[in-house]
Amino acid sequence: MSNRRFLITSALPYSNGRLHVGHVAGAYLPADTYVRYLRAKGDEVRFICGSDDNGVASLISARKEGRSVEELTAFYNGRQAADFAGLGIKFDIYGGTHQPKFVELHNRISQGFFRTAYDKGYFVKKTTKQLYDVQANQFLPDRYVKGKCYECGAEGAYGDQCEACGVSIDPMKLINPISTITNTKPEPRETTHWYMQLPQFGEKLRAWLEAKRQPQGDCPPWRETVLNFSLGQIKQGLPERAMTRDLHWGVPVPLDDPDAAGKVLYVWF
Ligand SMILES: [Zn+2]
Repeated sequence: MSNRRFLITSALPYSNGRLHVGHVAGAYLPADTYVRYLRAKGDEVRFICGSDDNGVASLISARKEGRSVEELTAFYNGRQAADFAGLGIKFDIYGGTHQPKFVELHNRISQGFFRTAYDKGYFVKKTTKQLYDVQANQFLPDRYVKGKCYECGAEGAYGDQCEACGVSIDPMKLINPISTITNTKPEPRETTHWYMQLPQFGEKLRAWLEAKRQPQGDCPPWRETVLNFSLGQIKQGLPERAMTRDLHWGVPVPLDDPDAAGKVLYVWF
């Protein structure tokens, strides 16, 4: 037995549907192969994963299937665990961000990250206009709104990302935005959120990425394409991003501020 210890994880699947071959081939089979390789060499490995239960994707599916979001995410979390087991992919822990056994721990750790960043002054509180669905009586973060991408012109771009060109979307700039809840045209209304000041990390990140051109310990140099893409993003200027959302489903914003009421952390925070 070597004394090397590894923690391996893969991107969390949303618990709003069954797994398909793309999930397995893209994220879990490569990780499983690597875990088996390390274990065969005698390394100590923990292989941890779970479902991404929070966020708008689950809320939309729950509404479509006519059941509560708790029920929906518990159901698909169970199906995913069974499917992985059936494929012989064995996690040491398969949890979920809102599953009863894990939600308290997940919230505590996520809120801890947020508080640490907040206390270091990495957030700025700002009131801006966001899209609001008058009929559903709620704001429309992320996938609750669709429209035409202002970068590539593709129809059906989501409020957080255009899947055609991959750009991060500012929902206020979407062309012909439509609420995915009621199919009505939303109107802009003011709301307050906490924005992470990514521009202040640009120089630090650039230096860190540049260092990846050289091998470090066991790690080979990073691939040129990955480095160039990442450095290109920094050169363009990193945007400030809202890390809170007007939703009730998710990790509550851990601030003693009346403006934080009824808000949760952005799932990609
Ligand atoms: Zn696009």
